[in-house]
Amino acid sequence: MRIEVRNVTKRFGSLKAVDNVSFTIEEGKLIGLLGPSGGGKSTLLRMLAGLETPDEGDIILDGKRVNDVPPQKRGIGFVFQNYALFRHMTVFDNIAFGLEVKKAKKNEIRERVNELLKLVGLEAIGNRYPHQLSGGQRQRVAFARALAPRPSLLLLDEPFAAIDAKVRKELRTWLKEMIEQIGITSIFVTHDQDEAVEVADEMLIFSNGRLEQQGSPLEIYRHPRTPFVASFIGESR
Ligand code: ADP
Ligand code: MG
Repeated sequence: MRIEVRNVTKRFGSLKAVDNVSFTIEEGKLIGLLGPSGGGKSTLLRMLAGLETPDEGDIILDGKRVNDVPPQKRGIGFVFQNYALFRHMTVFDNIAFGLEVKKAKKNEIRERVNELLKLVGLEAIGNRYPHQLSGGQRQRVAFARALAPRPSLLLLDEPFAAIDAKVRKELRTWLKEMIEQIGITSIFVTHDQDEAVEVADEMLIFSNGRLEQQGSPLEIYRHPRTPFVASFIGESR
């Protein structure tokens, strides 16, 4: 999916959580959305997904303005920081959820869920419940669930924030391969720049609701465009 964000602003009271932001993302890219906590990253993703409405500006997906299109009609999958799996449902039923909402046929659902279980390497544990899984396994389920309805855009909001450093590293490599294999346009939020550099074709750097820079990891390291980017990128290196 091709994404155009044009002069988008979102306020909470007097705070501009997203402040006159514009950018374009081409189809098929894996984007790292990076910046300090409170910078507006989640708010931006929520507006793309239709979970928040911009106060100003336009969100255009594949050439169509979607400001008034409800979330379930945008063709977007969302993976949240805290998994947000349904605790009373098995792995299988969690992945099936979005298909059941769409009233897909029983045998189609079974086929699709089995295909996804295989894709994420969890075919042996479809009948387990979330509390019987490791953090990494839960996040794979969340990923499979987001992909089930075949979205054209995948949004991942700090998907590994709750996972310890070692597993996290494995997971991000796994995720990158998986996304490349599927070829889906994706935006991956993180406040960890190493994670962004390793995963992303292109990075968007946010601070205080503003887009500071967009570019490939290499461009941004070589030519930081603002003092903020220079110091942010310089920080943990
Ligand atoms: P990030 O994801 O980069 O950490 P957020 O988009 O979550 O940033 O938040 C940006 C700013 O907007 C923060 O100051 C946050 O406190 C504020 N904010 C986010 N959501 C709400 C909300 N629903 N109500 C009020 N303030 C909010
Ligand atoms: Mg956030």
